Amino acid sequence: MAESGGGGRKKPNILVTGTPGTGKTTTSYLLAEATLLRHVNVGDLVRDKNLHDGWDDQLDCHVINEDLVCDELEDMMEEGGNIVDYHGCDFFPERWFDLVAVLQTENSVLYDRLSKRGYTGSKLTNNIECEIFQVLLEEAKDSYPEDIVVALQSDTVDDINRNVTTLTDWVRSWCPKPE
Ligand code: ADP
Ligand code: MN
Repeated sequence: MAESGGGGRKKPNILVTGTPGTGKTTTSYLLAEATLLRHVNVGDLVRDKNLHDGWDDQLDCHVINEDLVCDELEDMMEEGGNIVDYHGCDFFPERWFDLVAVLQTENSVLYDRLSKRGYTGSKLTNNIECEIFQVLLEEAKDSYPEDIVVALQSDTVDDINRNVTTLTDWVRSWCPKPE
């Protein structure tokens, strides 16, 4: 993992991404607590600030307006110190992030989690397929430099604790890029 980065930020920005249900929000919350960085839940932001173009009945979610989301986040990201939590990663500017963590969960474990969350039918199977085909890992590798993308297994509570520790250590050792 790269240990310095930039854009003049004094604190790093981390993207926590992965298929819905892989533990992004739980991990980001605990990481924010440990590091005092700011947890930005993009899904909540889209809903609360209406950064969408309506509801997609097919996918059963908001149609996110990527330009509005990026405009909303720009100043915060420039300042640094953010943990951005979202199940997509290809529309954020590459320069925003110093580390991209892709959470991954074993299929049967993810199936149970999403069923518990009330997902059924195509919404459930689409997300399981998304995980099987490692869509978010590929998207992250296509969108960011290879050396800042890290895949983290997220099947158990022990995994979460280990991931939070790994990421907290990374934050503590991060240094701003020399001018
Ligand atoms: P996401 O934000 O990626 O959709 P959440 O953090 O909301 O995922 O987690 C979804 C559900 O699965 C929550 O009930 C959470 O407690 C549980 N969960 C997530 N990751 C793990 C894990 N590694 N071990 C055990 N339970 C987990
Ligand atoms: Mn979430």
